[in-house]
Amino acid sequence: MAASGISVSSPIASAVLPHGDQLELIRKGENSTSLLRWTGGRASKCRDVQFGRRRFIPAAIDEDLPTEITLATGVSDYKSAADLFDRIVHIFQSICALEQNNAEMAAFLAFATHFVECRDPAPRAIVTGIDTWEISQFLQLLRSFCRHAIPVARFAPADYSNLPGGCSPTFLISDPRPSTALLKFLDATQRSGFGMAQSKGIVNRPFSAVIVTSGHDLDDMIPNTFCRINATPQIRPQLLDAKALRRIAKTFQPQLLLYRLKNRSRVAKVNFDPDTLSGATRALASVLGSCFPDSEELHKRVVKLLEPQDEERRLDHARCESAVVLEALLIACHEGRASVHVGEIAELANGILDLRGDGYGLEARKVGSILRSFSLGLRRDSRGYGFLLSTECQRRIHQLGHALDVPFFQGKIDKCDICKNLPPSAL
Ligand SMILES: [Zn+2]
Repeated sequence: MAASGISVSSPIASAVLPHGDQLELIRKGENSTSLLRWTGGRASKCRDVQFGRRRFIPAAIDEDLPTEITLATGVSDYKSAADLFDRIVHIFQSICALEQNNAEMAAFLAFATHFVECRDPAPRAIVTGIDTWEISQFLQLLRSFCRHAIPVARFAPADYSNLPGGCSPTFLISDPRPSTALLKFLDATQRSGFGMAQSKGIVNRPFSAVIVTSGHDLDDMIPNTFCRINATPQIRPQLLDAKALRRIAKTFQPQLLLYRLKNRSRVAKVNFDPDTLSGATRALASVLGSCFPDSEELHKRVVKLLEPQDEERRLDHARCESAVVLEALLIACHEGRASVHVGEIAELANGILDLRGDGYGLEARKVGSILRSFSLGLRRDSRGYGFLLSTECQRRIHQLGHALDVPFFQGKIDKCDICKNLPPSAL
């Protein structure tokens, strides 16, 4: 369609037009593509779409997109969100013999990749397992369900600096030894608006990523906004063949595409907020759960799945240095002191660490910098830095301690008036 001489052709993978129509790239035959237009609840195939002065054309495989990208061949109907979800879970179980919770997590992740540009943080997952071959089998299967999946052995962001408009791929990175630099990159690019300024392309657009590891060396570095999937089979798994995988993708990609087209505008607006989780795990549950605006059942399941991860996060926090300093501050509050100095807090904090047998102490300087991060109004007097334990200040200390779930509140304490007014702990 040559509309006018000033029309600009843009190869796209996906677009949402201002009046709500959606365009999606679909595969037509082995290596050619076309566009699918979604208007008022109906899909139609077209070669290009003119909108104002822009002419949207399908991105070309091998030119704009890597050959191995997974694309739907059209749309096809599904029974319900819950049914589609359950069928995907079932396939992870029957083919890769994944344990139920891990199969569910994989299914939640797959759905979330179809709405990557709608929500923050962007889907990230770490897949662990004992056997690298079994892990790679799982990645192959996961590929059938993720949006615009691109399997890579090693991931170099610079290789994806020229992707077409609306392409928000899912990188399935099979490198069994991902570097800490890669992990930091995937963490830093999880939120929109935090793209790294030095280059264009993938760093400045939402994308999903799955990394694998067969060891525990990265354990401490995995952010709690990452899904964790253990791909260890529970029984002897099936041997996958390329034909079977293609069949699965051919069945599910069109259904997942239809699910996206029908639900995209709502997923972008709905904000599922699980009230029993907090911090990073809450953000992750919100992203995964929001993909199902109508299913209370799936909301409950995602919360249940993430509860162990949330508990782990709380325990980690409770052990961190800030928590120890807060605990020391709470002791000072409960002793009825009118003011405290950094040295006294350091002494109390080290007493707690001693009792716990952690085998290390905190220097007053370190305690000072932690205290500064709490904004309690540190002032210097003849005895060094310190502050008044005003009621306001005590309240803030209690709130901070409560937010971090410090062990202080679980011990046998005489509750002060502020303690009594704290909301019940989520634990
Ligand atoms: Zn108290």
